[in-house]
Amino acid sequence: MQPMIIILKEGTDSSQGKSQILSNISACQAVAEAIRTTLGPRGMDKLIVDNRGKPTISNDGATILKLLEIVHPAARTLVDIAKSQDAEVGDGTTSVVLLTAEILKNTKTFIEDGMHSTIIIRAIRKATALTIKKIKEIAVNIKSNDAEEHRALLEKCACTTLSSKLIARQRDFFAKMVVDAVLMLDELLPLNMIGIKKVTGGSLEDSRLIAGVAFKKTFSYAGFEMQRKKYLKPIIALLNIELELKAERDNAEIRLDNVDEYQKIVDAEWSILYNKLEKLYKAGVKVVLSKLPIGDVATQYFADREMFCAGRVQEDDLKRTQKACGGTIITTVENLHEQSQHVFGTCDILEEVQIGSERYNFFTGCPKAQTATMILRGGAEQFIDEVERSLHDAIMIVRRAVKNDSIVAGGGAIEMALSRTLRDYSRTIPGKEQLIIAAYAKAFEVIPRQLCENAGFDATNILNKLRQKHFENHIWFGVDIIHEDVHDNFTAAVWEPAVVKINAITAASEAACLILSVDETIKVPKSSAEPSNAAKAMNMT
Ligand code: ADP
Ligand code: MG
Repeated sequence: MQPMIIILKEGTDSSQGKSQILSNISACQAVAEAIRTTLGPRGMDKLIVDNRGKPTISNDGATILKLLEIVHPAARTLVDIAKSQDAEVGDGTTSVVLLTAEILKNTKTFIEDGMHSTIIIRAIRKATALTIKKIKEIAVNIKSNDAEEHRALLEKCACTTLSSKLIARQRDFFAKMVVDAVLMLDELLPLNMIGIKKVTGGSLEDSRLIAGVAFKKTFSYAGFEMQRKKYLKPIIALLNIELELKAERDNAEIRLDNVDEYQKIVDAEWSILYNKLEKLYKAGVKVVLSKLPIGDVATQYFADREMFCAGRVQEDDLKRTQKACGGTIITTVENLHEQSQHVFGTCDILEEVQIGSERYNFFTGCPKAQTATMILRGGAEQFIDEVERSLHDAIMIVRRAVKNDSIVAGGGAIEMALSRTLRDYSRTIPGKEQLIIAAYAKAFEVIPRQLCENAGFDATNILNKLRQKHFENHIWFGVDIIHEDVHDNFTAAVWEPAVVKINAITAASEAACLILSVDETIKVPKSSAEPSNAAKAMNMT
């Protein structure tokens, strides 16, 4: 009898071969099923309640998949590509998952028929390269020196992204706002220089864009109300210093035997604090922002001297203020004097403004870096959260479009054009590859088909019309979501940056190849304190 050799821990789950690939493909399709209905302008939203009972309403593929907490190892690949698409270009997260699942679905039959996955992978790689080349070829470059025209282009791209979101009806309003915000930034378009603040209440149209930094009034002590609420060209000090009497807080033990000594300690405490405050005052500072708390004594001190203060400012707000207004975050007030201007920042106007039931500090006219802050208004919290996510998509797209101004038409147009090109190409090559590339070409049709299905259209009919149009070389024909028909989505201004599609298609193909190349999953069980049966057997008790 052959001895049984155990190399893996007991309880290890391993499955391999063709059936493993097929089961992975099925898992990926299940994931795609979950977000299929969210695609496009007529897509539905999902309400997800996480294990802590927090509800999230979203239409964004990456957000939904993140919240679903998928555990299947192969299906997690899809979550990862959705995330990477989100990080890389910001939009197209649903599309990338649908495309991967469709490529896998179409190649499934070849696996079932016993074709080796390396052949399939090779063909897919070849087809992907061809697809990317084709996109670059047909993408339209609309570089224009006319600022007005350029703006219009950016707004159209933002509109297309927003049209598939909860705020589709306000898309013109928000597209303008997003473009304004992005254009306010400097060359590098740093994403973190656009702050998004949410204030519940009011209507969506009450949302506004501040050309500068804004953050919520922080917790403050009584004297705060006596401080002035508007400053012109103030000197701003950003601190990382606590302006509070320490003894009240600290748990230190001090042993004293008479009252005088105690008084001395209290006095010392006060004079340290007053010293710090005086240094700031003497240096001409008008506005004091601190990461750490500012106590009541300090608040009153500033109020008496027409200075403004805010303690416990959140770190990212403080950093943004620093970038925008200049200066450094100071950790000691020693050596401060009026000449040390570089340590202080400034801006044209600091103002406290009431927004809904909250108060905000606005810093506008900042000299150093260009920043923008969006203040979003709206009913429920979940709603504003989704608005924020949607705007994030739009901001990313506009940034992309600013940097790289070649665009393609959306609404399934580019996908149909690619599908046709690949199908034509596949006819020119012999052998198995022909079948695989044709299958890959067909996968692109999932986007227009799903757009139709989500809108309640007859997908077969529309797709036939589209194929016909593309056969006649009308490359920008796509789904007309309003009239249940097909039309030229380029003239209809359903525009998307070409990079979004390039990235989505590359990522989808890579993910599909990855899943096709995995033919064995080995799952090692979590180790437990209990010795396993095998271990017991080895002890030979
Ligand atoms: P994703 O997460 O992939 O961006 P979306 O739900 O945003 O998913 O849907 C994007 C799709 O909707 C794209 O294929 C885009 O071309 C299409 N789309 C957006 N606006 C329109 C429109 N007005 N008409 C037709 N298709 C549109
Ligand atoms: Mg989108």
